[in-house]
Amino acid sequence: MTVCNSTKRSVSNDQGSVQFPCPKCGKQTIVRSSEARKAGLKYTCPCGEFTGPN
Ligand SMILES: [Zn+2]
Repeated sequence: MTVCNSTKRSVSNDQGSVQFPCPKCGKQTIVRSSEARKAGLKYTCPCGEFTGPN
Protein backbone atom coordinates (compact mmCIF):
# COMPACT_ATOMS: atom_id res chain seq x y z
CA MET A 1 0.00 0.00 0.00
CA THR A 2 1.23 3.45 -0.86
CA VAL A 3 0.52 6.07 1.76
CA CYS A 4 0.96 9.82 1.83
CA ASN A 5 4.12 10.88 3.62
CA SER A 6 2.18 13.62 5.45
CA THR A 7 -1.24 12.17 6.21
CA LYS A 8 -0.35 8.45 6.23
CA ARG A 9 -3.45 7.79 4.19
CA SER A 10 -3.59 5.54 1.18
CA VAL A 11 -3.25 7.35 -2.14
CA SER A 12 -4.29 4.42 -4.31
CA ASN A 13 -7.49 6.25 -5.31
CA ASP A 14 -5.99 9.72 -5.22
CA GLN A 15 -5.58 11.01 -8.77
CA GLY A 16 -3.86 14.16 -7.53
CA SER A 17 -1.17 12.42 -5.55
CA VAL A 18 2.47 12.57 -6.55
CA GLN A 19 5.41 10.28 -5.92
CA PHE A 20 9.03 11.18 -6.42
CA PRO A 21 12.42 9.99 -5.24
CA CYS A 22 13.99 11.89 -2.36
CA PRO A 23 16.33 14.54 -3.79
CA LYS A 24 18.70 13.99 -0.90
CA CYS A 25 19.13 10.27 -0.50
CA GLY A 26 17.58 9.09 -3.77
CA LYS A 27 16.59 5.84 -2.08
CA GLN A 28 13.26 6.68 -0.51
CA THR A 29 10.14 7.52 -2.42
CA ILE A 30 8.20 10.49 -1.12
CA VAL A 31 4.44 10.32 -1.57
CA ARG A 32 2.16 13.30 -1.29
CA SER A 33 -1.62 13.09 -1.49
CA SER A 34 -3.62 15.80 -3.23
CA GLU A 35 -4.96 16.73 0.20
CA ALA A 36 -1.47 17.29 1.59
CA ARG A 37 -0.47 19.29 -1.48
CA LYS A 38 -3.48 21.58 -1.26
CA ALA A 39 -2.96 22.13 2.44
CA GLY A 40 0.79 22.60 1.98
CA LEU A 41 1.48 20.02 4.65
CA LYS A 42 5.06 19.50 5.64
CA TYR A 43 6.71 16.22 4.78
CA THR A 44 9.98 14.62 5.71
CA CYS A 45 11.78 11.83 3.92
CA PRO A 46 12.27 8.70 6.06
CA CYS A 47 16.01 9.36 5.69
CA GLY A 48 15.45 12.48 7.77
CA GLU A 49 17.50 14.74 5.53
CA PHE A 50 14.86 16.19 3.27
CA THR A 51 11.88 18.23 4.33
CA GLY A 52 9.40 20.01 2.08
CA PRO A 53 7.49 21.54 0.48
CA ASN A 54 10.26 23.47 -1.20
ZN1 LIG B 1 15.72 10.84 1.73
